[in-house]
Amino acid sequence: MCVPVIVGETGLGKSTLINSLFLTDLYRDRKVPNAEERIGQTVDIIKHTIGIEEKGIKLRLSIIDTPGFGDAVNNTASWKHVEDYIDQQFEQYFRDESGLNRKNIQDNRVHCLLYFISPFGHGLRPIDVECMKALHEKVNIIPLLAKADSLTQAEVYSKKLKMRDEIKQFGINIYQFPECDSDEDEDFKRQEQILKDSIPFAVIGSNIQVDSKGRKFRGRSYPWGVVEVENPIHSDFLMLRNMLVRTHMQDLKDVTREIHYENYRAQCIQNMTRMMVNSRNKLIRGSEVDFPLPLAAVDTEMERQIFEKDEEVCILLSHLYGSPLHTHSHTYTDHHAQGKLHNQQTAMLQVQQG
Ligand code: GDP
Repeated sequence: MCVPVIVGETGLGKSTLINSLFLTDLYRDRKVPNAEERIGQTVDIIKHTIGIEEKGIKLRLSIIDTPGFGDAVNNTASWKHVEDYIDQQFEQYFRDESGLNRKNIQDNRVHCLLYFISPFGHGLRPIDVECMKALHEKVNIIPLLAKADSLTQAEVYSKKLKMRDEIKQFGINIYQFPECDSDEDEDFKRQEQILKDSIPFAVIGSNIQVDSKGRKFRGRSYPWGVVEVENPIHSDFLMLRNMLVRTHMQDLKDVTREIHYENYRAQCIQNMTRMMVNSRNKLIRGSEVDFPLPLAAVDTEMERQIFEKDEEVCILLSHLYGSPLHTHSHTYTDHHAQGKLHNQQTAMLQVQQG
């Protein structure tokens, strides 16, 4: 299952684009709050699960919508709810992974964030920069230039250039398309380069079918002509859809698992280790042991891991202070486990010294 989260100010065409991308009508019963209701609005997190079929393959998507983003008068940290949501999914996965039923984990980790940028400003706004910077270490950010039909072709080009420059200048780490191997097909390399040069994807959404010159298509009809959502000359809609549901879905999942989730996991283990070292220090000083864990529900597997860590802390401390604190036996059967123990001890030493 792929889980994209949609972020952007109200009115930028998020719901319309989601309906167009996945040919759904997710927002039929939507009630848009008025200005007064939006003054103090906080960001909601709404999850829609849909099934789509792509070239005969059935895919399930959980789309996380964030109505209210950037809507309040004070939008300081309006991305905090999104950040918390991403962390909660990582935490749930971490718990499940440490539990007994590891084989049947439901993976709800967020795989990408479609960030809508207004076409009406002069490049990125402060909220865009702040939000993307707050989330870039946790999720694959794919920036989108919303409502591209409101810009001329030249404007789309120059806005894209400016936004790419700003993304670089502000140190925002958006999703990086994988590098092609040198022996890769030239056509494939060209397609990948076009993808990279198209960031932020200029998108157009429409909920209706337009009938023009005997053809029916998803589009927008204006007094001066029609714009076709799926026409590559009019927008990058098809490019975005293809990468999301076909060409790059697996890479988005891999990067989530190997980089974003690993960062979270390492941080979590480091916090647990720090707490254990602190409480061990308290024990040594004769004070009461306060042993909070970042993860509330402790299952057997978790307890076993904690027990092992506890043992390792004891060994480390007995090395540090020269006397055995207590004597449990350890059997580390392979070099890998010994190497791991050594790494953990080094990490704990750094924690202690820090
Ligand atoms: P959301 O609040 O971000 O979900 O925005 P909506 O999808 O509800 O769209 C807000 C308004 O913008 C509606 O009137 C849409 O018809 C219109 N809209 C949506 N997508 C586009 C687009 O690509 N171009 C233009 N010009 N208008 C759009």
